[in-house]
Amino acid sequence: MATKRDYYEVLGVQKGASDDEIKKAYRKLSKQYHPDINKEADAEEKFKEISEAYEILSDPQKRAAYDQYGHAGTDPNFGAGGAGSFGGAGGFGGGAGGFGFEDIFESFFGGGGSRQADPKAPRQGADLQYSINLEFEEAIFGVEKDIKYNREETCHTCNGNGAKPGTQPEVCHKCHGSGSINVEHQTPLGRVMSRQTCDVCHGTGKEIKDPCPTCHGSGHEKRPHTVKVKVPAGVEDGQQMRLADQGEAGVNSGPYGDLYVVFKVKQSDIFDRDGAEIYYTLPLSFVQAALGDEINVPTVHGDVKLKVPAGTQTGAKFRLRGKGAPRLRGNTNGDQQVTVKIITPKNLNEKQREALYAFAEAGGQTVTEQKEEGFFGKMKDAFGGKK
Ligand code: ZN
Ligand code: ZN
Repeated sequence: MATKRDYYEVLGVQKGASDDEIKKAYRKLSKQYHPDINKEADAEEKFKEISEAYEILSDPQKRAAYDQYGHAGTDPNFGAGGAGSFGGAGGFGGGAGGFGFEDIFESFFGGGGSRQADPKAPRQGADLQYSINLEFEEAIFGVEKDIKYNREETCHTCNGNGAKPGTQPEVCHKCHGSGSINVEHQTPLGRVMSRQTCDVCHGTGKEIKDPCPTCHGSGHEKRPHTVKVKVPAGVEDGQQMRLADQGEAGVNSGPYGDLYVVFKVKQSDIFDRDGAEIYYTLPLSFVQAALGDEINVPTVHGDVKLKVPAGTQTGAKFRLRGKGAPRLRGNTNGDQQVTVKIITPKNLNEKQREALYAFAEAGGQTVTEQKEEGFFGKMKDAFGGKK
């Protein structure tokens, strides 16, 4: 490419010129240098230059690409539509322009960009997700589970090349294996070549004359797949685990995708859990609470004896160290928190009633004696008075 003048300079406008200013400048100059009017030797040359500059600067996308990358940004190989078509199927990266598109691309996108420009490049397969239901205890102690699902695998008949056994994919006759072809476009500037994905092989560079009967040429087939999942002790509801290579088969011999296993943990009727901490509500009769007692408290690790001191109030908390769930990091357990709930006795028998009146009296308390619960009292109990 010959050294080109700056488009703004060609039109004689400032870099930040408005669309109107650009249009005005173009009208004036194109009249001045129109070959039908201007018979100077370089008029046609100049007229072309002006038209080209206007074509780029009057199109917001092309102008943006030009502002960012200069003349390279307007090269037809640079994605025909300018900035808007980055990552499109055809266009750039074909090597025709030779201005180092990759370099620009990487400096602009920080190197992490997807280079989907080359359809022949190996690509990793899709990731999959699978939910595993766990019992409350399975999540705490860990468990091994076989999970089964269907996934795209490399076709076992053709080993992924898509060709019938005994045959081989051939080099594409149209693009000779490059995966892209040159296409001529008619543009206001004349004929322009650009590179596009080959329409015969869709960019793979290969042609399959005799497709594999199993995968019909795709190289993949859906197959049931079983994975043994070691659920670590201490997982929680909603947590997930990544199993490398257990997703779907890659493209162009790319690696398999990953499998994300999501744990759905069932709730317990007895315990609540928050991370490694387990919570338990201990029902105590007021007698036990008043006198103190030794009680077997259930934990996920088995019953534990808990000494409740005399005078324990409802809401009192006790901590059973190490009786919680395992922590995922490190090999210690959380605790079990025990919260006391004092249960007021109901449906007392005669002896109990007498004892309680005596108890009150012994403490100098007067309790107005209630008569034996009658018909209405019993009805009340039957309807929702259960607690
Ligand atoms: Zn196959
Ligand atoms: Zn081709």
